Amino acid sequence: MIITNQYGTVEYDWKDYKNPMLSFSGGADSTLLLWLSLQLLETKPKDVTLNVFTGVTPAKGKFKQFTSQENFDKMLSEFPQVRDRVPDRHIMYNDTQEALGDRQIYMQMEGIYDLRIYALTANPPHEIMVEHDLLRDRVEHRDIEHPKREWALLPFCHGLPAGPLYQPFINIDKRFVAQCYEDFDLWRFYNNTISCERMRETDDMKFSEDPCGRCWWCREKKMAFGMLDGQYKP
Ligand SMILES: [Zn+2]
Repeated sequence: MIITNQYGTVEYDWKDYKNPMLSFSGGADSTLLLWLSLQLLETKPKDVTLNVFTGVTPAKGKFKQFTSQENFDKMLSEFPQVRDRVPDRHIMYNDTQEALGDRQIYMQMEGIYDLRIYALTANPPHEIMVEHDLLRDRVEHRDIEHPKREWALLPFCHGLPAGPLYQPFINIDKRFVAQCYEDFDLWRFYNNTISCERMRETDDMKFSEDPCGRCWWCREKKMAFGMLDGQYKP
């Protein structure tokens, strides 16, 4: 499928892989990619399954697992034709993001998945980063000045052949994602997509703490969506 708007074009297809794994953090990017993946799954042969993997690290806060579960359940209920081809999502707790990535690679090497899909986006162009104070604290290898391949067929990780990796959003930035929420009317999922890295879980594991508005992820979300986490008002 081809998705295009004023911020770029993404041609999304995981080709003939039978057991792709989508890393679903529950943020705005991976929530969009899950929605696109369910549409794509409808066009695939019946023996194709979509595996959804959510990693939980202490830095991200366990509450994200619960907010993203609400989106996962709601979204799947909208795709009854493929519901039986999406196993319950795999949730894994690890101390660091790197350990989660390693675990996903090992599961691919064990044959549990045949492809890893990540919703990682690029940083916006330099002038947009200047305008929105996004140069500070950014992850520099996400800069769009260095276009990357969406497919990596034999990447190595810690010297081991990690298997195919697919990052369809690697050359678009979050403004593309925000435009998709508008074009596909995905706003019903927005308030459960958590980007702020400084929020912590509350007793009811619900979204009841305000995003900080200062961390890099808050600034990026504001740049793209014009608002912070949880601030969409129908
Ligand atoms: Zn924040």
